[in-house]
Amino acid sequence: MSRRRKPNSGDPRKRKPDAVAQRAASAYRCGHCRSRSLGVTVDQYGINHLNIGHDPSCPVLLGTVDDAPDVLRAAAAAEGPLVVVLGDFEGGGEE
Ligand SMILES: [Zn+2]
Repeated sequence: MSRRRKPNSGDPRKRKPDAVAQRAASAYRCGHCRSRSLGVTVDQYGINHLNIGHDPSCPVLLGTVDDAPDVLRAAAAAEGPLVVVLGDFEGGGEE
């Protein structure tokens, strides 16, 4: 019998986002369309995801420019331990 913890497989709507991630979400502001975060969701592994509601014409949403500077500014403003993963996290990589 394994004593390892299984990934958090409960209802994602019931998982509470980390306080640092919530502060980063509050601090996020798109440098192009000025949109803010729509909130933080937590996946089945406990990883917090900032959801951003860019305007439909935003160059970040269209992939013309990168949002890395905006994400890093928000992470710095969160003032806590935070690992930032940039890019299409749920895309599964290139094939
Ligand atoms: Zn935007």
